[in-house]
Amino acid sequence: MSESFSLAFDLRFEDLYRRDGLVRLDGCFVEFLKRRNADLHNRLMAGRAAPEGVAGKDYSDLIVELAVELEDFIAALFGIARDVEALRTRHDALAPLYAVKRLFVQRRAAKKYSPEQAAAFDWQALAAQLETLIGGALTELRFAQRVEAWMKAEAEHAAALDLAAQYAAWATHTPQGQHRHRDGVLFKLPRKIDPHRLVPVETEVVDGIAMLKLPASHRRARDGFALTDQGTDLAGALDHANYCIWCHNQGKDSCAKGLREKSGEFKKSAFGVVLAGCPLEEKISEMNLVEAGGHTVGALAVVVLDNPMCAATGHRICNDCMKACIYQKQEPVDIPQVETRVLKEVLALPWGFEIYGLLTRWNPLDLRRPVPKPSTGRKVLVVGLGPAGFTLAHHLINDGQTVVAVDGLKIEPLEPGVSGVAVSGARSPFRPIRDIAELREPLDARVMAGFGGVAEYGITVRWDKNFLKLIRLLLERRGEFAMFGGVRFGGTLTIDGAFALGFDHIAFCAGAGRPTIVAMKNGLAAGVRQASDFLMALQLTGAAKTDSLANLQVRLPVVIIGGGLTAIDTATEALAYYPLQVEKFLSRYETLIAERGEAAVRADWSAQEVEAASEFMQHAREIRAERALAVREGRKPQLAELMRRWGGATIVYRRRLIDSPSYTLNHEEVVAPARCASPRRTPMPPLRRATSSCRRARSWSRQARNPTPCSRARSRSTCASTASISRQSMRTAARSRRNASPSRPPPMC
Ligand SMILES: Cc1cc2nc3c(=O)[nH]c(=O)nc-3n(C[C@H](O)[C@H](O)[C@H](O)COP(=O)(O)OP(=O)(O)OC[C@H]3O[C@@H](n4cnc5c(N)ncnc54)[C@H](O)[C@@H]3O)c2cc1C
Ligand code: SF4
Repeated sequence: MSESFSLAFDLRFEDLYRRDGLVRLDGCFVEFLKRRNADLHNRLMAGRAAPEGVAGKDYSDLIVELAVELEDFIAALFGIARDVEALRTRHDALAPLYAVKRLFVQRRAAKKYSPEQAAAFDWQALAAQLETLIGGALTELRFAQRVEAWMKAEAEHAAALDLAAQYAAWATHTPQGQHRHRDGVLFKLPRKIDPHRLVPVETEVVDGIAMLKLPASHRRARDGFALTDQGTDLAGALDHANYCIWCHNQGKDSCAKGLREKSGEFKKSAFGVVLAGCPLEEKISEMNLVEAGGHTVGALAVVVLDNPMCAATGHRICNDCMKACIYQKQEPVDIPQVETRVLKEVLALPWGFEIYGLLTRWNPLDLRRPVPKPSTGRKVLVVGLGPAGFTLAHHLINDGQTVVAVDGLKIEPLEPGVSGVAVSGARSPFRPIRDIAELREPLDARVMAGFGGVAEYGITVRWDKNFLKLIRLLLERRGEFAMFGGVRFGGTLTIDGAFALGFDHIAFCAGAGRPTIVAMKNGLAAGVRQASDFLMALQLTGAAKTDSLANLQVRLPVVIIGGGLTAIDTATEALAYYPLQVEKFLSRYETLIAERGEAAVRADWSAQEVEAASEFMQHAREIRAERALAVREGRKPQLAELMRRWGGATIVYRRRLIDSPSYTLNHEEVVAPARCASPRRTPMPPLRRATSSCRRARSWSRQARNPTPCSRARSRSTCASTASISRQSMRTAARSRRNASPSRPPPMC
């Protein structure tokens, strides 16, 4: 245990992981509350005695008020009152941004001056005058602070306020102003939503075929497999927490409860997606209110109440809440960003992980189960440790069950001092984690741990997989839980075997997903892969790591067939993997020929291998040259441009972009990856592949007598003209590759 760790209220670290300790802790909180707020204490006690009697707004008010007190209690418990106060101060310091945005920028400046008037303003002159008045550089925060002060004595500051209004109108209405303030929040007003234009694509015509891509201004350079998206900062999260209108006060928080028609049925989006809101009915509105008030620990307690595994949700994972937000005609509140930022801010506190973990075991906002229930004596076998398995395991433990979980994948052991489990599987003492950095690993160097199902081996580096370790520790440190990797249910362990071992119940959480096999001729030709296999291989084998020997070969151009999120992931990952692959190939080749000589290295290569190797090395040398040039010019290497020249990645979908499941369910996940990888997208029904003489996939074409899947697409004129799209496109791509061979492409589906 860390020497500096001590708990208040006469509690020990071990108590936080034992039911009797948590019961004592709960007693301390109740006493603490009684001293500070007798009325709230009485309401809590009444609520615990008859939870069914506290519902709706009464319950919301109770948890919002309790969350604030709970934050102070936790700060006292962990001895971090000053750190929690510092976090609140950071919130308070940002507060003028949101008040001025709503009261001045939105309600006044943007209305007073039209876009046409704003476009005629001399913004540089306005900025210079404002800087003189402000007495420093024109930052958004300074602007907001000064305007807030001026608004308190309007008559006195009428001229200054008008200057500020002109600048705000320019920054809000004009493209130049929006660009200047693209990283800020003050002048970004919610945009109206056109459901048919959620993704800002432009068209590129290749050999008469229209393809879609993001405009250059929306693209970001991605190089490698480090985390691609850090998410928003505190200012961005608070912007959305303040944009929320806290609908729980009117019982209209559709983000949590779903958006309903007058008939009571759930509404549907323009694309027929049911707007049922958060499947966990997380108290989102209450979280936003508590967070906007500056109480981040309290806000996390609200989140954890319904979503204890929040480290595995939030930003870049789920968005059902956003889709059902009351704002249907303008941008919704970005709830996942707020939720994830709340978690990150708490984790960044001293003992932040312990605070998060504690709230999953003890949460006084929960009237029915503030502490885990006493042991029932029942033992449950959970099969599969993906999101379903680990969430179920958590709830079973808190309900008093003992849980043993198995997964077919090998699960790598963690350091016993952190996990509480020795390599032998025996329980061992573990220490509190003071600094969350101790649990973090860079994603591009991280070893797959085998825990988390598809969240580990399917989801890409758009999401911070360090969160999986937190989830794992929440379970692994519990005395009522044990897990075993490398145990395949149905093989190593059978149903009869499990019951013979004494389990009372078996819970199957083995995943329901299967790869979609597109029925087509030559569907198993060399160079063709199922996308999920490719993603799994990329993650599980560590192929993207420089020192990995994994053999996962990708050649360009890549064609991905399908319109779901897996297609998007595959396109982005293939484009990120390719440069790494060819650079790794070239450097190993150079090492080998230095050791053994070129003839010896090439002695056993087949004609196809010679062809692939020369292409890889040519591309690797071009990448090297670009990297060297970028260093000389002090910029990031522009690998995306090279990749496009070599054919890049094209997503082929049989319908329109707006019909694809990725667009209708989660268009943010179409925009964000496309920014990094800029794959192109084209509508066509590709259902037959031609193979080359060496049986590699070479091209593909639409099948003449095609079954139903593409009947709709064929009926549209755009698709009628795409019968030979692939051959034409491939010819274009081939022309752009100087050393190209005709025996390509190796598509993935
Ligand atoms: C490429 C890809 C990207 C995705 N991106 C997202 C996303 O961004 N957001 C999102 O919400 N969802 C995403 N999903 C979907 C999400 O991953 C799944 O919905 C989720 O993982 C399902 O969880 P699960 O626990 O049911 O199953 P899985 O995650 O599939 O976990 C099942 C576990 O059971 C184990 N198992 C299977 N059979 C056995 C057996 N016989 N014995 C022992 N163990 C067994 C497996 O090894 C695995 O660990 C994505 C899926 C894919 C494929
Ligand atoms: S997130 Fe949207 S629906 Fe939910 S409370 Fe806020 S404004 Fe209302």
